[in-house]
Amino acid sequence: MTRFERYANLTAVALPFAAFLAAIVLLWGGAVDGVDLGILAVFYVFTALGITVGFHRLLTHRAFDAPKPVMYAFAILGSMTVQGPVIDWVADHRKHHAHPDQEGDPHSPHGHGGMVRGLIYAHMGWLLDTQGQAAKRQYARDLLEDRGLKTISKLFGLWVALGLLIPFAAGLAITGTLAGGLTGLLWGGLVRVFLIHHVTWSINSVCHVFGTRRFQTDDHSGNVFWLALPSLGEAWHHNHHAFPRSAHHGLRKSELDPSGWVILALERVGLARQVVRISPELQERREREGRGEHAVAA
Ligand SMILES: [Zn+2]
Ligand SMILES: [Zn+2]
Repeated sequence: MTRFERYANLTAVALPFAAFLAAIVLLWGGAVDGVDLGILAVFYVFTALGITVGFHRLLTHRAFDAPKPVMYAFAILGSMTVQGPVIDWVADHRKHHAHPDQEGDPHSPHGHGGMVRGLIYAHMGWLLDTQGQAAKRQYARDLLEDRGLKTISKLFGLWVALGLLIPFAAGLAITGTLAGGLTGLLWGGLVRVFLIHHVTWSINSVCHVFGTRRFQTDDHSGNVFWLALPSLGEAWHHNHHAFPRSAHHGLRKSELDPSGWVILALERVGLARQVVRISPELQERREREGRGEHAVAA
């Protein structure tokens, strides 16, 4: 990783954190209104879906297929969460699945000399070490061959700027004041990025150390229920490692999975096709294997 990349990533971590602290002070002082929180909620959901449905389930794992404009829209929304260009993200994440919690995993919490050090590495340390370093020709050749995605990936800085500018413009338009624009930028821009960063990174750190397991997988992934809603369903991460191509990470009714619901809705209106589903029989079989009950007559 170059020195420039390291400084860029440090800034991308530190700036939203500082803004989050400032926002807490404003919140404490009562200088926050419903408009700010509304802008935060709307931009949180749309740009986080860019990561969960777009970067992750659609582009990394091909859990469904979508028309190109839909695919590009998700790729742009995901880029606004400041997690690196889409093709870098996909290459890193496919490498994670190729070597989960083993040598070569870009962000495993295991093998770093203790749990706390491992959690810190998987959460943020890797951003100064392995992030964006997976070989794109090896792990994301299909994306490199798509001219639109290649352009979106190259224009990463533009999407980051738009992700800050649009909440500013929304605050300005709704309140008609510059102060409203600036708090829109703070909450819908920087605080949103801070929250989505830490929720996404928790999937790499928390969900590879804690959580429940029910399938046999070659990694330490867990299902972490309290992260399910903020992560829009991604915290059913053990299910995801057991069935990486499944469009749904929540496999039971009680496993709330908003990103899966969005894919269902897209399918209903004809904007998602070939949605990958895991049959209950296959889930049961894998669960029995997880309990060590091998190959008994069903
Ligand atoms: Zn994982
Ligand atoms: Zn994945």
